[in-house]
Amino acid sequence: MKILHAVAAGILPPLCAACGRSCRPEAMVCTRCSRRLAAAAPLAGQGPPGIDRVWSSAPHDGVARDLVTALKFRRLLPVAGLMAERIHWLAPAGLLTGAIVPVPTAPLRTLTRGFDPAGELAAALAERLEMPLEPCLIRKGGGRQVGKRRAQRLARPPRIHTRGEVPRSVLLVDDVLTTGATLSACARALREAGAVRVAAITFARRL
Ligand SMILES: [Zn+2]
Repeated sequence: MKILHAVAAGILPPLCAACGRSCRPEAMVCTRCSRRLAAAAPLAGQGPPGIDRVWSSAPHDGVARDLVTALKFRRLLPVAGLMAERIHWLAPAGLLTGAIVPVPTAPLRTLTRGFDPAGELAAALAERLEMPLEPCLIRKGGGRQVGKRRAQRLARPPRIHTRGEVPRSVLLVDDVLTTGATLSACARALREAGAVRVAAITFARRL
Protein backbone atom coordinates (compact mmCIF):
# COMPACT_ATOMS: atom_id res chain seq x y z
CA MET A 1 0.00 0.00 0.00
CA LYS A 2 2.89 2.32 0.73
CA ILE A 3 4.01 1.99 -2.89
CA LEU A 4 0.51 2.84 -4.12
CA HIS A 5 0.36 5.89 -1.89
CA ALA A 6 3.63 7.03 -3.40
CA VAL A 7 2.17 6.47 -6.88
CA ALA A 8 -0.97 8.43 -5.96
CA ALA A 9 1.19 11.24 -4.62
CA GLY A 10 3.06 11.33 -7.93
CA ILE A 11 6.38 10.37 -6.35
CA LEU A 12 6.68 7.08 -8.21
CA PRO A 13 5.61 6.36 -11.80
CA PRO A 14 2.73 3.84 -11.88
CA LEU A 15 3.93 0.27 -12.43
CA CYS A 16 2.09 -2.73 -13.80
CA ALA A 17 1.11 -5.07 -10.92
CA ALA A 18 1.93 -8.09 -13.10
CA CYS A 19 5.16 -7.29 -14.98
CA GLY A 20 6.47 -4.23 -13.14
CA ARG A 21 6.80 -2.03 -16.26
CA SER A 22 5.37 1.45 -16.26
CA CYS A 23 1.73 1.80 -17.15
CA ARG A 24 -1.06 4.39 -17.38
CA PRO A 25 -1.67 6.15 -14.06
CA GLU A 26 -5.22 4.86 -13.62
CA ALA A 27 -4.43 1.25 -14.63
CA MET A 28 -3.37 -1.61 -12.37
CA VAL A 29 -1.76 -3.48 -15.26
CA CYS A 30 -0.08 -2.36 -18.48
CA THR A 31 -1.78 -2.70 -21.88
CA ARG A 32 0.34 -5.72 -22.79
CA CYS A 33 -0.54 -7.64 -19.62
CA SER A 34 -4.16 -6.55 -19.87
CA ARG A 35 -4.35 -8.03 -23.39
CA ARG A 36 -2.67 -11.23 -22.29
CA LEU A 37 -5.05 -11.67 -19.38
CA ALA A 38 -8.02 -10.98 -21.65
CA ALA A 39 -6.84 -13.80 -23.92
CA ALA A 40 -6.69 -16.35 -21.07
CA ALA A 41 -9.66 -18.71 -21.18
CA PRO A 42 -11.70 -19.40 -18.05
CA LEU A 43 -11.94 -22.99 -16.83
CA ALA A 44 -15.19 -24.61 -15.78
CA GLY A 45 -16.30 -28.06 -14.86
CA GLN A 46 -17.31 -30.42 -12.17
CA GLY A 47 -15.94 -29.51 -8.82
CA PRO A 48 -13.91 -31.64 -6.43
CA PRO A 49 -16.02 -33.88 -4.12
CA GLY A 50 -18.72 -31.88 -2.31
CA ILE A 51 -18.62 -28.93 -4.72
CA ASP A 52 -21.56 -28.73 -7.14
CA ARG A 53 -19.80 -26.56 -9.68
CA VAL A 54 -16.42 -24.90 -9.94
CA TRP A 55 -15.25 -22.07 -12.18
CA SER A 56 -11.89 -20.33 -12.46
CA SER A 57 -11.27 -17.14 -14.42
CA ALA A 58 -7.89 -18.25 -15.87
CA PRO A 59 -5.20 -20.93 -15.70
CA HIS A 60 -2.58 -20.21 -13.02
CA ASP A 61 -0.10 -19.08 -15.60
CA GLY A 62 1.37 -15.92 -17.10
CA VAL A 63 -0.32 -12.67 -16.05
CA ALA A 64 -2.91 -14.46 -13.87
CA ARG A 65 -0.11 -16.11 -11.89
CA ASP A 66 1.75 -12.80 -11.60
CA LEU A 67 -1.36 -11.13 -10.19
CA VAL A 68 -1.86 -13.92 -7.63
CA THR A 69 1.76 -13.41 -6.56
CA ALA A 70 1.26 -9.63 -6.39
CA LEU A 71 -1.73 -10.05 -4.09
CA LYS A 72 -0.33 -12.88 -1.99
CA PHE A 73 3.30 -12.01 -1.57
CA ARG A 74 3.58 -8.32 -2.45
CA ARG A 75 0.35 -7.32 -0.71
CA LEU A 76 -0.93 -5.28 -3.62
CA LEU A 77 -4.46 -5.27 -2.25
CA PRO A 78 -6.09 -3.33 -5.16
CA VAL A 79 -5.26 -6.40 -7.28
CA ALA A 80 -8.18 -8.09 -5.48
CA GLY A 81 -10.47 -5.52 -7.13
CA LEU A 82 -9.04 -6.31 -10.55
CA MET A 83 -9.58 -10.05 -9.96
CA ALA A 84 -13.16 -9.41 -8.81
CA GLU A 85 -13.77 -7.35 -11.95
CA ARG A 86 -12.62 -10.20 -14.21
CA ILE A 87 -14.76 -12.72 -12.32
CA HIS A 88 -17.77 -10.40 -12.57
CA TRP A 89 -17.36 -10.01 -16.33
CA LEU A 90 -16.72 -13.64 -17.20
CA ALA A 91 -18.33 -15.95 -14.63
CA PRO A 92 -21.63 -17.61 -15.63
CA ALA A 93 -24.42 -15.51 -14.06
CA GLY A 94 -26.08 -18.62 -12.62
CA LEU A 95 -23.01 -19.24 -10.50
CA LEU A 96 -23.03 -15.81 -8.88
CA THR A 97 -25.80 -16.50 -6.38
CA GLY A 98 -26.06 -17.25 -2.67
CA ALA A 99 -23.69 -15.94 -0.04
CA ILE A 100 -19.97 -15.47 -0.65
CA VAL A 101 -17.84 -17.45 1.78
CA PRO A 102 -14.04 -16.96 1.64
CA VAL A 103 -11.94 -20.12 1.79
CA PRO A 104 -10.17 -19.68 5.13
CA THR A 105 -6.42 -19.27 5.29
CA ALA A 106 -4.47 -20.99 8.07
CA PRO A 107 -4.46 -18.59 11.07
CA LEU A 108 -0.67 -18.64 11.29
CA ARG A 109 -0.38 -17.61 7.64
CA THR A 110 -2.77 -14.71 8.10
CA LEU A 111 -0.86 -13.66 11.20
CA THR A 112 2.53 -13.65 9.49
CA ARG A 113 1.20 -12.05 6.31
CA GLY A 114 -0.97 -9.55 8.11
CA PHE A 115 -3.82 -10.11 5.68
CA ASP A 116 -5.73 -12.86 3.92
CA PRO A 117 -5.69 -12.92 0.07
CA ALA A 118 -8.82 -15.10 -0.31
CA GLY A 119 -10.63 -12.86 2.18
CA GLU A 120 -9.63 -9.75 0.23
CA LEU A 121 -10.85 -11.24 -3.06
CA ALA A 122 -14.12 -12.44 -1.48
CA ALA A 123 -14.76 -8.99 0.03
CA ALA A 124 -14.03 -7.24 -3.29
CA LEU A 125 -16.35 -9.63 -5.13
CA ALA A 126 -19.16 -9.31 -2.58
CA GLU A 127 -18.98 -5.53 -2.77
CA ARG A 128 -18.92 -5.48 -6.56
CA LEU A 129 -21.79 -7.94 -6.99
CA GLU A 130 -23.73 -6.69 -3.96
CA MET A 131 -23.83 -10.21 -2.59
CA PRO A 132 -23.75 -11.05 1.13
CA LEU A 133 -20.33 -11.90 2.56
CA GLU A 134 -20.39 -14.61 5.22
CA PRO A 135 -16.95 -15.53 6.59
CA CYS A 136 -18.36 -18.57 8.40
CA LEU A 137 -15.39 -20.93 7.98
CA ILE A 138 -12.29 -21.21 10.11
CA ARG A 139 -9.19 -23.25 9.55
CA LYS A 140 -7.44 -25.03 12.39
CA GLY A 141 -3.70 -25.55 12.70
CA GLY A 142 -0.85 -24.46 10.44
CA GLY A 143 -2.02 -26.46 7.42
CA ARG A 144 0.52 -24.85 5.13
CA GLN A 145 -0.18 -26.01 1.58
CA VAL A 146 2.38 -24.00 -0.38
CA GLY A 147 5.38 -26.12 -1.28
CA LYS A 148 3.76 -29.42 -0.36
CA ARG A 149 3.56 -32.14 -2.93
CA ARG A 150 0.18 -32.85 -4.50
CA ALA A 151 -0.01 -36.31 -2.90
CA GLN A 152 0.70 -34.84 0.55
CA ARG A 153 -1.98 -32.20 0.11
CA LEU A 154 -4.58 -34.76 -0.90
CA ALA A 155 -3.61 -37.15 1.89
CA ARG A 156 -3.91 -34.53 4.60
CA PRO A 157 -6.75 -32.11 3.88
CA PRO A 158 -6.92 -29.00 6.09
CA ARG A 159 -9.17 -29.03 9.15
CA ILE A 160 -12.08 -26.69 8.43
CA HIS A 161 -14.86 -25.79 10.87
CA THR A 162 -17.91 -23.56 10.70
CA ARG A 163 -18.79 -20.74 13.04
CA GLY A 164 -22.18 -19.13 13.54
CA GLU A 165 -25.00 -19.38 11.03
CA VAL A 166 -24.18 -21.08 7.70
CA PRO A 167 -26.00 -19.93 4.52
CA ARG A 168 -28.01 -22.57 2.63
CA SER A 169 -26.57 -21.49 -0.71
CA VAL A 170 -22.82 -20.87 -0.71
CA LEU A 171 -20.36 -19.52 -3.25
CA LEU A 172 -16.86 -20.33 -1.99
CA VAL A 173 -14.17 -17.91 -3.16
CA ASP A 174 -10.41 -18.47 -3.26
CA ASP A 175 -7.54 -16.94 -5.19
CA VAL A 176 -6.12 -20.21 -6.53
CA LEU A 177 -7.51 -23.73 -6.97
CA THR A 178 -4.85 -26.41 -6.75
CA THR A 179 -5.93 -29.94 -5.83
CA GLY A 180 -9.40 -29.08 -4.60
CA ALA A 181 -8.71 -30.75 -1.22
CA THR A 182 -9.32 -27.48 0.62
CA LEU A 183 -12.55 -26.80 -1.28
CA SER A 184 -13.77 -30.31 -0.48
CA ALA A 185 -12.97 -29.85 3.22
CA CYS A 186 -14.90 -26.54 3.17
CA ALA A 187 -17.87 -28.17 1.42
CA ARG A 188 -17.96 -31.00 3.95
CA ALA A 189 -18.05 -28.58 6.91
CA LEU A 190 -20.67 -26.36 5.22
CA ARG A 191 -22.98 -29.25 4.32
CA GLU A 192 -22.72 -30.71 7.84
CA ALA A 193 -23.88 -27.30 9.09
CA GLY A 194 -26.88 -27.18 6.73
CA ALA A 195 -25.68 -25.79 3.37
CA VAL A 196 -27.52 -27.40 0.45
CA ARG A 197 -25.72 -25.79 -2.48
CA VAL A 198 -21.95 -25.27 -2.51
CA ALA A 199 -20.33 -23.83 -5.63
CA ALA A 200 -16.83 -22.39 -5.92
CA ILE A 201 -15.08 -19.65 -7.86
CA THR A 202 -11.35 -19.03 -7.95
CA PHE A 203 -9.41 -16.40 -9.82
CA ALA A 204 -6.84 -18.92 -11.09
CA ARG A 205 -6.55 -22.66 -11.39
CA ARG A 206 -3.37 -24.74 -11.42
CA LEU A 207 -3.46 -27.33 -14.18
ZN1 LIG B 1 2.45 -5.53 -17.41
